[in-house]
Amino acid sequence: MIIGSHVSFGSEQLLGSVKEAISYGATTFMFYTGAPQNTMRKKIEEKYLQEADKLMEENHIDKKNVICHAPYIINLANKKDPEKWQFSIHFLKQELSRCDELGISYLVLHPGSAVGYPKEEALKNIVDALNEVLKENYRCEILLETMAGKGTECGSTLEEISYLVKNVSKEVGVCLDTCHLNDAGYRMDLFEEFLEEFEKNLTLSKIKCIHINDSKNPLSSHKDRHANIGYGTIGFDNLLKICNHEKLKDVPKILETPYVGKTFEDKEKIYPPYKFEIQMIKEGKFNSDLLNSIVSYYNK
Ligand code: FE
Ligand code: FE
Ligand code: ZN
Repeated sequence: MIIGSHVSFGSEQLLGSVKEAISYGATTFMFYTGAPQNTMRKKIEEKYLQEADKLMEENHIDKKNVICHAPYIINLANKKDPEKWQFSIHFLKQELSRCDELGISYLVLHPGSAVGYPKEEALKNIVDALNEVLKENYRCEILLETMAGKGTECGSTLEEISYLVKNVSKEVGVCLDTCHLNDAGYRMDLFEEFLEEFEKNLTLSKIKCIHINDSKNPLSSHKDRHANIGYGTIGFDNLLKICNHEKLKDVPKILETPYVGKTFEDKEKIYPPYKFEIQMIKEGKFNSDLLNSIVSYYNK
């Protein structure tokens, strides 16, 4: 199974990400090239990149399965302020160049929020922006993420996602997010039906990444709050089935579940849950004492 989690891109850049992924027993990972909330980015260091490649090879992590995530502040849907819209376009181009420099094949992107625009116009803005970005050729491919539909988010229905994929002049793929799909109103306990619905719009080969998250909220809540695996409204068995789905076996699965504190509700969330969540999924067995496993491991 190709499974990993979101990891940080710290002082050692990709090398730090690889080390963190290995510490979780992961076979892939996802990173941001800097803080997800801002666009401050450091120059890529060749030395760390080479060491990262070597470490991935030694640990059987295929770089083709490694995912980068664009920062949230890129919003291609709203061009009320043309300067801001152009900035988003410019920054996305830079992210794609950075991915090419790093040798990363996929960049996950939130389609954007309509803000004051009607949905149809917002979707057109996204298509225009992506066509502008893709005038240049990048090896790295953009994956549009399915969203929860929080606020004025675009891309919370399969129709919207497929409209974008079909109208962008170059190849773009899709990243599913199980928490977002649940919150958008797609039942993850009926995943076969979801895939059938997907195939009415796009081929399954468009799915290049899946974010595996439980949800803190019920179906159709449009909230987007991730829960730890098996500790939300989707549940362990449904998420496990998705991870083990034969038709999606070559697709990287990425956990973006919350860090935990001494309790799940602790304000001080300092322990990464990924080592133990990955273990549960690989073994196919729910850990009903997840919190305790995590806290005692990191307090050794
Ligand atoms: Fe995302
Ligand atoms: Fe996600
Ligand atoms: Zn989310």
